[in-house]
Amino acid sequence: MTKLIHLSGELERKNGGNRAVVPTMGALHQGHLDLVDAARERVGSNGEVVVTIFVNPTQFGQTAEFEHYPRTLESDFEKCYTSGVDIVFAPSAAQMYPDAGAPSEYVSVHPGPLGEILEGADRPGHFTGVLTIVAKLLNLTKPDCAFFGEKDYQQLILISQMVRQLNFPVQIIGTPTRREPDGLAMSSRNMFLDSDQRSQATVISQALVIAQETDGSVAEKLRAARFVVDGKIETSYLVAMSNDLSQELAVTDPNPEGRLLYAGVLGGTRLIDNMPI
Ligand code: AMP
Repeated sequence: MTKLIHLSGELERKNGGNRAVVPTMGALHQGHLDLVDAARERVGSNGEVVVTIFVNPTQFGQTAEFEHYPRTLESDFEKCYTSGVDIVFAPSAAQMYPDAGAPSEYVSVHPGPLGEILEGADRPGHFTGVLTIVAKLLNLTKPDCAFFGEKDYQQLILISQMVRQLNFPVQIIGTPTRREPDGLAMSSRNMFLDSDQRSQATVISQALVIAQETDGSVAEKLRAARFVVDGKIETSYLVAMSNDLSQELAVTDPNPEGRLLYAGVLGGTRLIDNMPI
């Protein structure tokens, strides 16, 4: 039986098993449900799977984007119920930010230099918002493990870094990106694409696959990927980085190993994706 709760006071632990948490902003799709399945696999039938649903204002640059973010609690709850989630924790903004003053004025987590590049460069303050809300949700739900998607690769690395460097007693587990049949990474934002933009968006995963399949140096892989996206989508970045995102791969590296990361904007909708190389 899935319990829907809005107040953190009702989050006390069931006796016995481990607890896994899957933090989300709702508008759930199969990518989120993969995290739920991985969480269940980890904690077993004696454990508890908690999904949190909260559209966090402090990680959005523009108020309009925050206001237009899809909110579909009823169907999200049904999906959680069907997937065997134990608890859906859907707090209100007042519950998460109870003190006087704007949420942006709260004590926050400083992401360090890794929060300034890629998504952090294009969306100033984004990762401060993300890390702060994740820290709050981890403190409220007190899980043994927490699941995050590789889809938001930089976010996954930053959260792992926060937990390690700030000594949070929780294990962070990444889960592979779930894709549509044509390769587009599933995202709650895909619903903002019209049908032309939706077909255009497939060039992102195509570019990353072509880079993976191109034999040669980083420069050759990036050139092949750029050829696919150029003129089809407004690219913000396309880079090859080490797996921990600490450095860009040398363009001359003949046997590159790391992560290829992409961000672009299509008709006002920001889309991101990444793949290993
Ligand atoms: P969001 O609701 O977009 O904040 O995402 C909540 C969690 O689901 C994050 O850990 C995301 O990385 C993850 N996620 C989002 N889309 C996907 C996807 N297509 N495949 C796997 N995980 C995803």
